[in-house]
This record gives sequence, structure tokens and C-alpha cells, in this order.
Amino acid sequence: MKYLERLKNLKAYKTETTPCKVKLSSNESPFDLSDKLKERISQEIKKINFQRYPDPHATRLKEVIANFVNSEENLNITPENLVLGNGSDELIHLLITVIGDLKNPVAYPIPTFPMYQVSSDVVGRPKVEFELDENFQLTKEEIDKALSKNPDAFFFASPNNPTGNSFDRDLIKYVIDKGVFTVIDEAYIHFSDKESFIKEALQYDNVVVLRTMSKVGLASIRLGYLIAKKEVAEEINKARLPFNVTYPTQVIGEIVLTEGLDELNQQIKAVREERTRVMSEISKIKHIKVYPSDANFFLMKVPNGDLLHKQLIEKGVLVRNMSHLPKLENCLRVSIGKKEENDEFIKAMFEIFKNG
Ligand SMILES: *Cc1c(COP(=O)(O)O)cnc(C)c1O
Repeated sequence: MKYLERLKNLKAYKTETTPCKVKLSSNESPFDLSDKLKERISQEIKKINFQRYPDPHATRLKEVIANFVNSEENLNITPENLVLGNGSDELIHLLITVIGDLKNPVAYPIPTFPMYQVSSDVVGRPKVEFELDENFQLTKEEIDKALSKNPDAFFFASPNNPTGNSFDRDLIKYVIDKGVFTVIDEAYIHFSDKESFIKEALQYDNVVVLRTMSKVGLASIRLGYLIAKKEVAEEINKARLPFNVTYPTQVIGEIVLTEGLDELNQQIKAVREERTRVMSEISKIKHIKVYPSDANFFLMKVPNGDLLHKQLIEKGVLVRNMSHLPKLENCLRVSIGKKEENDEFIKAMFEIFKNG
């Protein structure tokens, strides 16, 4: 095993797998695609030549994604501004592998999405982890401390996972203006009214934006994309594995982002409305702190995280236990589900906390 020595101290990515009737643990969309859309997908999948490699540039899918982004943000991006990934996880891994020098650190605030740490550890890259304040917001002081360690890149998930809040725009701009490579991971931007960083990504060669289809109904097909200036996207594309986006994924992505757009947008709207309702109900329970959210989930601080996590499972509701992570003592993360699922979660909470 001596060749695997370097992996000895790595921990595998953990996810909640306890089978439960109501699954509110992975920030997926609660809505499956309609039968009509699935029917269209089947028709198109049948036409695939399964013995052939997919288009390595995914040209058609990139055009569709560019249109999708432009229609939402009133922009003018083209396929040349995009790098596609097998989920945005793959793009995170790619960036951590190619940006700057592997000997120099990457920086990110904690608590945040674990992949920045996991990928850094896999490639043996040093990390600069800096703290968010008590509201999970960035501070200039901590950013300055991180900058003093000369990282080659900063990763900001905004809205942040698992805290749900967006980061202070001016402080991200502050890092960008220092000329350090800055990744803004906008996995949850569809659930937020805050301004995206795409404009900055198209303007500066040290800024890229990451997006994913995973939180808006397509976690199964693994499709993420990076938005950057043409020159930047072109360089990063050289390091991407050639056929990382499968033929079926390309076909499904094209259909859903054209014929399925209305459906997708309705689902996003429904999740946003339910978020308001669930959070306001849970806020009524004494001794629970509900943190604000711009995402399709929210974080709550409870008297005893492990106990409540277990009690909810007994009532058939699975949420994500964050209790054991630094700065997240007794915190649980709850994804927004369908109305009926949210009702079951709310009912379970009121039963456990005896109506408040
Ligand atoms: C879920 C998530 C991702 C990963 O998404 P995939 O496209 O499914 O790999 C990236 N960043 C953040 C912040 C996430 O929460």
C-alpha cells in the first residue's frame, strides 16, 4: 500500500443515506421532470449512437446554456465563455489543479462547501481557511489575514452552503481588486435576488463563476458550467478531460434547457415560496434560531442537534446534521421540499417541540 500512503489521511465525502420518507438532506430539487419532458428525453436518447464518443466540445449544449444564462441575466455570453463539467464538483477540482502553482495555497472561508478542502487535500495543495463572523459573513480582517498568506486563489460559495447567506459583494470585489484569482460558486443563485458575478467574470481575467444544474432539478445528469472571459475559458478547457460531459447528459441538458425551461422556472419559484413559508413556521418555535437564506435550504441552530436529527429520522424526515463541523455546533441544514414534504417536516418539528 506504500503507493497509497498520501491518501491515508483523507476522509471520503460523506452524505446522508438513511432511507427516509421525506428527504430534505441534499439540497436537490424536490420536483422530478414531468412525464411529458421525460417522454421527449426518451425519444431523443433513442437517437444516440451509443458506440460513439460524444461531441468533446458539447457545442450545441453550450449554445443552449449560453442562451439560458443570457435570458436570465440580460447578458451576451457565447459558448466560448463556457467550460462544462461533470457537475461543478469536477470544475472545482479542475480549478484547484490548474490555477497558479500547486505549491501555493487556495483560500476559502469556513464553514463552507467541503469540496474546496477535499480537492485541495487530494492534490496535496496547501489551504488557507479563514473564519466567517457570527452571522456567517466575510470580514475584511479575516480576508486580509488570508491575503497575507499569499494564496493563488479564493473560493467563495455565494449563496454559501451550508449557511444559506450570500457574501458581502464589496469584500469579494476587494479580493478581486487585489488581482488574486477569485472563484464565485453560484450553485444557489437561482434562489437568490442578489446580483451575480458574471459581469465581473466577463470583465476580469482573474474571476470565474461556477454554476450547476444540480440544485434546479438535474442532479442526476451531473452538469456544471464555468463562465469566464474567452481567453480564460480557452486555457482552462485545455486541462479538462476530453469527454467529461456524456452524450446522454448533453442530449438531456439541451432538451430541458429549451423545452423544459418553463417547467424548471416554475419549480424554482415554488421552492422560493415554500422557503418563506417553512422558515416563518419554524421561526415560531422557541429556542430555535433560523438563519436567513438565499438558497433552496436553510440552516437552523437548535438546543441539541444530534438528538433532533435522530428524532426527525424517527418521524420519517431526513435533514443534514452539521452539528459536528467547526462553527456549526447544534446546527441542522434543511432543504426545501414539496409542500406536502414541508408540511410533514413542520408537523414533526411542532410535535417534537410540543407546539413551540
Ligand atoms: C451542490 C454544490 C456544488 C456541486 O454541485 P454539482 O454540480 O452537483 O457537482 C457546488 N458548490 C456548492 C456550493 C454546492 O452546494
